[in-house]
Amino acid sequence: MVRILFFLVLGAVAWVAYKSWSGKPLSKKKDTPPLPGRNEEATILTCKHCGAFAPLTEGVMVEGRFYCSKEHAQASGERLGV
Ligand SMILES: [Zn+2]
Repeated sequence: MVRILFFLVLGAVAWVAYKSWSGKPLSKKKDTPPLPGRNEEATILTCKHCGAFAPLTEGVMVEGRFYCSKEHAQASGERLGV
């Protein structure tokens, strides 16, 4: 009797797993959409002040000019709303 229950539970779990897996066959492609915002993280730019390489997300962009930090932006005469 316990065995039958075990296989019933196993079958139910397998069915649910199969349903959720086959329900979205293209989910793998949807997990990593080519969002334009995502690419910014991989963009490496050079600081206009010191020439250091830094990711776009870690630096400061002022009217198209990139700086590795706020300090360097200000040191180059950029006005930041601090
Ligand atoms: Zn810099």
